Amino acid sequence: MKKGEVQLLDEQKRRHDGRAPNETRPISMKVGVLDRADGSALVEFGKTKVLAAVYGPREVHPRHLALPDRALLRVSYRMATFSTWERKRPTPSRREIELSMVIASALEPALFLEKYPKCAIDVFCLVIEADGGTRTTAINAASLALADAGIPMRGLVVAIAVGRVGDTIIVDLDEVEDNYAESDMPIAMLFPQEEITLLQMDGTMSPHLFEQALETARQVLRNVYSLQVKALKERALKARTKVVL
Ligand code: ADP
Repeated sequence: MKKGEVQLLDEQKRRHDGRAPNETRPISMKVGVLDRADGSALVEFGKTKVLAAVYGPREVHPRHLALPDRALLRVSYRMATFSTWERKRPTPSRREIELSMVIASALEPALFLEKYPKCAIDVFCLVIEADGGTRTTAINAASLALADAGIPMRGLVVAIAVGRVGDTIIVDLDEVEDNYAESDMPIAMLFPQEEITLLQMDGTMSPHLFEQALETARQVLRNVYSLQVKALKERALKARTKVVL
């Protein structure tokens, strides 16, 4: 399949980096990587690397931002100036401000915000290296950091992007695929309930392919969920504390 000069799938349906359509990049998850944050995680999907830190529930500053009936969930998504080939300007871009809101809305269904009125839960996601799928990697890192902070959760939030090249569904798009595939659909789900908390789409997809994409994403997300659980268990073993998963 060709678009411009970029061949995204060859005759054997191999992707430009050799992956099969439903194959993710190598995934790495480490929990508790920062000492002073209440919770933290470093998550990598191939060359995309995101560090998440969580503080709270804690007092809100400035105070007038406090909500009387629930905690304020504040998410900051930023790309490090060295995360891309061209130096990224340090001032927050419109994209970063929008993605901070998108990530907050994907995480919120997992949290019992009503249990912490007048408090804030602060989530910082820093993209250290960007190669496509930074919002989904940030959601996975933030979910782990929230659990590491000991914040009660309904479940873990697990995310992946799926896309379309012709009639073939591909998963975990890298930057080249993100730029050239016909569609790109980031999805987040609350596990183990398997409830969608985020679904966005760039490009077009027929209803039939959309259902196929959703089912493919669900299968991959089950695997990513088990990796999140494994990373939390490893952290608990290291800290010699007991967690119930
Ligand atoms: P996502 O990272 O969630 O896929 P986008 O679709 O907006 O979000 O971005 C796709 C990819 O484009 C990013 O992962 C990153 O590799 C690249 N990118 C985004 N913003 C910039 C930027 N300001 N400079 C260079 N590359 C960028």
